[in-house]
Amino acid sequence: MWEPVIGLEIHIQLQTKSKLFCSCKNSYGDPPNTNICPVCLGHPGTLPVLNWEAVKMATKLATALHCRINPTSYFARKNYFYPDLPKGYQITQHKYPLAQDGYIVLRSGKKIRIERLHLEEDSGKSIHTEEGTLIDFNRCGVPLAEIVTKPDISSPEEAVEFLKILRLVAIYTGVSDADMEKGNMRCDANLSLKPADSGSLGVKTEVKNLNSFRFLARALQYEIERQRKLLEAGGKVVQETRGYDSHRGITFTMRSKEEAHDYRYFPEPDLPPLVLSEEFLGKIKEGIGELPWEKKSRFVEELGLDEDTAWVLCGEKEMADLFEETLKHFPKPKELANWVKTEVMKLWKEGLRVTPIQLTKLLKMVEQGYISRLKAKEVLEEVAKTGKNPEEIVEEKGLLQISDEASLRVIIEEVVREFPDKVEKYRSGKKGLLGFFMGQVMRRTRGKANPKIVNKILGEVLNGK
Ligand SMILES: [Zn+2]
Repeated sequence: MWEPVIGLEIHIQLQTKSKLFCSCKNSYGDPPNTNICPVCLGHPGTLPVLNWEAVKMATKLATALHCRINPTSYFARKNYFYPDLPKGYQITQHKYPLAQDGYIVLRSGKKIRIERLHLEEDSGKSIHTEEGTLIDFNRCGVPLAEIVTKPDISSPEEAVEFLKILRLVAIYTGVSDADMEKGNMRCDANLSLKPADSGSLGVKTEVKNLNSFRFLARALQYEIERQRKLLEAGGKVVQETRGYDSHRGITFTMRSKEEAHDYRYFPEPDLPPLVLSEEFLGKIKEGIGELPWEKKSRFVEELGLDEDTAWVLCGEKEMADLFEETLKHFPKPKELANWVKTEVMKLWKEGLRVTPIQLTKLLKMVEQGYISRLKAKEVLEEVAKTGKNPEEIVEEKGLLQISDEASLRVIIEEVVREFPDKVEKYRSGKKGLLGFFMGQVMRRTRGKANPKIVNKILGEVLNGK
């Protein structure tokens, strides 16, 4: 038996207004090469100036991840040649990173340790086309937080859970929207197998650029199988960097250890040491706000939600916010949570939004018996699609439910008179016939009768009251 030993390296783009070392706009999706200047293009004679906003965000993220923040850290040059790196080096942090020794706790209670978090600049982007490769330098110099875990992860599922929680922390602290599709959160994974009964580690491979949770899981599953087969056949795992082909679902060799870069790190001479005062760190700590696991605990302890429901809500900050805002007007946490985690979440995933006011109005209409639960789902979807208020839609579609007891009793008595034989059978013990009578009432009201009230009156009438 083999045990996977997995570590992750994650890059998160910090959503500052400007880049890390110049005043160019940090913005995603602008036309290529419009947010550039001599500094981020690496022209000779230019000097970097550190963006303090990026320092604040990275420190915030590190604090939320329980890291120890180093009062003094240093920038270093990592030298390599690549067309989308015009300076010929990347400014990063090497021996003395911003933060160290943090952790994230998984739902199982297992702690995944974080070795370090440091600040660095992003490179440009190469765009490969049929005619050749184009380069967009807009991303050059965008601030990144790089997070490196200890090899504490033991399965693809744990790796995905870790990454999901990390993404939430970035979103909750407001430092990044950590959208893997846009590439503002990127993940590399290293993996080795060790015999279950041995303390010695195996040879690891690193898989680069896993840009979705699914790809991370699949690449790791593939790599576990590949290494296992290799080892069981008496072969050896080669230490190397691999890529992931998402179309074929396989990993492949990119470069071996012999070709590994020697980055020739040295201290960045153009930037002073980064010194953070205790006062600064204190302010950051105060301003962090509620973190995902804290919100989850509050939902469980104060609102009485179950663990799973609380996690589903807190797993998307927008949903948690909508839930809390609506709760102010509709203070029934369990019922509201059920609506949000199912119907509202489903619409939200399709890009459709409802406001707390709209949701409140709808739920109150259900509560007061104006519309049925089933119809309310229809109305909710219309609300999200049209932006209209629930009452307008109920009116337009004629969905108002009949809850008036007097008029329902008239219909029910009619039905009961019409089927004397069935009434007799019911009274002699065939209680299942209640469903039949219910169906008749629903047919006559075209499904608009309030089932709760019908049920109550039917019971009374059938039992001869
Ligand atoms: Zn610039």
